[in-house]
Amino acid sequence: MPERHDIVIIGGGPAGLAAAIGAYEAGCTDVLILERDTHLGGILNQCIHNGFGLHTFGEELTGPEYATRYMDKVAELGIECRLDTMVIDISDSRIVTAVSEDRGVHAIEAGAVVLAMGCRERPRGALNRERLSGW
Ligand SMILES: Cc1cc2nc3c(=O)[nH]c(=O)nc-3n(C[C@H](O)[C@H](O)[C@H](O)COP(=O)(O)OP(=O)(O)OC[C@H]3O[C@@H](n4cnc5c(N)ncnc54)[C@H](O)[C@@H]3O)c2cc1C
Repeated sequence: MPERHDIVIIGGGPAGLAAAIGAYEAGCTDVLILERDTHLGGILNQCIHNGFGLHTFGEELTGPEYATRYMDKVAELGIECRLDTMVIDISDSRIVTAVSEDRGVHAIEAGAVVLAMGCRERPRGALNRERLSGW
């Protein structure tokens, strides 16, 4: 039987951290965050300029400072985060397959899965020809 959690969140960037805190504060305390990187915070760790936090915290923060607020809250709530853990598959029945150095390839059953893996831009040249021909 695979390990089971009520909510498995894939990605420990700002969206994943906020989802974890939101779920916990709404009463679902069995939350697991899986993050492929060696630290939480996602892309915000690259955003070293200020301007973050004005709406949420009423102060100017850099990206890493803003992310740290959420990381601290996640730690305070005791939400489990597994770093260096890359999700490679999700089945229709919400079996999440992940790989990490310490656990190898392993399966986790989720009551619900939150996809918070961010996104990336794709340059025009990377789109296939059929799609481009319609533009
Ligand atoms: C150069 C740059 C400047 C920016 N400047 C600003 C700004 O000034 N103001 C602003 O509001 N926003 C800015 N942004 C945008 C902001 O950083 C993003 O909107 C925000 O980080 C998105 O959060 P996210 O959690 O959705 O995704 P991300 O921050 O991308 O986090 C996704 C996480 O998921 C993890 N992940 C992905 N796939 C897997 C997998 N298979 N298994 C496990 N983990 C996985 C990634 O490692 C990552 O940690 C900027 C972005 C960039 C790139």
